[in-house]
Amino acid sequence: MASLPMPPAVEMGPPRAVHEQSRAAATTEVAPTRTGSEGARAAGRGPSPVGEKQPRRAMKVILAQPRGFCAGVVRAIEIVERALEKYGPPVYVRHEIVHNKFVVDSLKAKGAIFVEELSEVPQGAVTIFSAHGVAKSVVNEAAGRRLPVLDATCPLVTKVHNQGKRYVAQGRVLILVGHAGHPEVEGTLGQIDGPVVLVQSEQDVAALKISPDTPVAYVTQTTLSVDDTRGIIAALERRYHNIVGPEIRDICYATQNRQSAVRELSHHVDVILVVGAKNSSNSNRLREIGAEAGIPSYLIADGSELAPEWVKDANTIGITAGASAPEVLVEDVIDTLRTLGEVEVSTLPGRQEHIEFRLPRELAAG
Ligand code: SF4
Repeated sequence: MASLPMPPAVEMGPPRAVHEQSRAAATTEVAPTRTGSEGARAAGRGPSPVGEKQPRRAMKVILAQPRGFCAGVVRAIEIVERALEKYGPPVYVRHEIVHNKFVVDSLKAKGAIFVEELSEVPQGAVTIFSAHGVAKSVVNEAAGRRLPVLDATCPLVTKVHNQGKRYVAQGRVLILVGHAGHPEVEGTLGQIDGPVVLVQSEQDVAALKISPDTPVAYVTQTTLSVDDTRGIIAALERRYHNIVGPEIRDICYATQNRQSAVRELSHHVDVILVVGAKNSSNSNRLREIGAEAGIPSYLIADGSELAPEWVKDANTIGITAGASAPEVLVEDVIDTLRTLGEVEVSTLPGRQEHIEFRLPRELAAG
């Protein structure tokens, strides 16, 4: 096996290109009419059956744009795949590389081994940190054991770490807006020296013990609800006059775009299916936004979790997908709907994303 340099030599590349086209033409684009899922077939999957096919009128299916994979997820998966090619299996991945069982199982089949603790990684084995980021203690443990590390932390998560460190260096008390226990939050809390206070709600802000004249700063988890976070930031600004922070800019482009798209989708459909994992923060936020708009909304991993009664009276079904859900699973859901009756698929116009992140130097082509 080729050798990797010792940590912390792996470099986190800056965004290679960060530009997005504005909204596409206002006409609805009709998606290619496929009778089956190429991706699902390639993966050896057929549509997930949900019951006897019964005659009913054609269902309209509208896909949100954008949906599914973001640049950070694409990069993280590519890091594992390239590491497997370059160094040979097994490679060890700390935590799910991204929150999606289909993705994790696909990488397992290629030779990746997923662990929760570095103590499970054998001496000298190639080790990959997940897209969510890790605490400094994990980086130090890997360095202490001289594990060859590739860091798949999303550059937008690293940006939040760096921003938090800068605020603390300015002598401010740092407040992290995020969900307790989420791996990204654990990583961010563990990256910043000095006290960091976690708040999850406006009630948490009201209960803060920090005195109002303290210089404070805040950063946020990248996958929060834009609307909820605005409320929490407003509550912080009411309580602290010496406060700085990024407003909602730490909520990443992919999260914001997918939330806008599902909000738009909610104007056109009777039910919303969000394809994503139960432990995927951004997928849960998409389901909540659909529900808050008054549309019955369900988070499903794939077509096998679709309950026919959710859609039996629906004329128009909206589908979106969280940032860690591959398109093959959206196609699986559509194929499952096809077992219930005729389906016409179209895609809402929406933002086109052209963001890519550089791979670590060791894995970059060339
Ligand atoms: S959701 Fe955003 S922060 Fe998370 S991996 Fe994707 S681009 Fe990065």
